[in-house]
Amino acid sequence: MSLHPVQRQGVLLVLSSPSGAGKTTLARALLANDAGIALSISMTTRTRRPGEVDGKDYFFLTNDEFARRRDAGDLLEWAEVHGNFYGTPKGAIDAHVAAGRDVLFDIDVQGAEQMRQRASAPVASVFILPPSAAILKERLERRAQDSAEIVARRLANAGAEIARWHEYDYVIVNVELAESIATLTAILAAERSRRARQVGLKDFVGSLKI
Ligand code: 5GP
Repeated sequence: MSLHPVQRQGVLLVLSSPSGAGKTTLARALLANDAGIALSISMTTRTRRPGEVDGKDYFFLTNDEFARRRDAGDLLEWAEVHGNFYGTPKGAIDAHVAAGRDVLFDIDVQGAEQMRQRASAPVASVFILPPSAAILKERLERRAQDSAEIVARRLANAGAEIARWHEYDYVIVNVELAESIATLTAILAAERSRRARQVGLKDFVGSLKI
């Protein structure tokens, strides 16, 4: 049991960006540095990339299985992104929130919008921007697992995704990875301290009797 006198509600931290802005690298770094936040593992109909593990990177589903889970109400949000379906399973999130644990979501702009509307706890959202259009293109092309056609489609979608930057609470221009990780870590720390997330604060303050 925690010795902390005040319990708090878990932070639902949503990260979005166009493909190639460095979001997945940032998400992995945050998870590695902070034992208090769990990753929401999405379901997808996308083909598995080399090195990706089912149940760790994603739950890889067929179109039929995805539709079945979606229609059964198992998804907190879902969207079609770059021609594939992606969705956030509800069950794991509810369990984390109830236990006061923080959860990280690597989801697109459509998913982030649904999360803000539907999640059972307040959402903190962060948008990651590339330092320039040229660097975004170069990063996408360097990702050798994807075919030229997939890279072209992702690049074509990037403009529409970037146009929604203003819907987010925080924006990080990812120039230098270490600096971006430090900023993201600081955002999480600040969100954890939000007064509204701290349960029983009034009683605690009353108990101080100073
Ligand atoms: P990728 O195929 O590169 O892994 O992901 C493509 C895009 O889908 C990324 O922008 C990623 O954030 C988004 N994405 C991954 N999982 C989900 C999800 O569960 N829901 C939504 N809405 N988007 C997701």
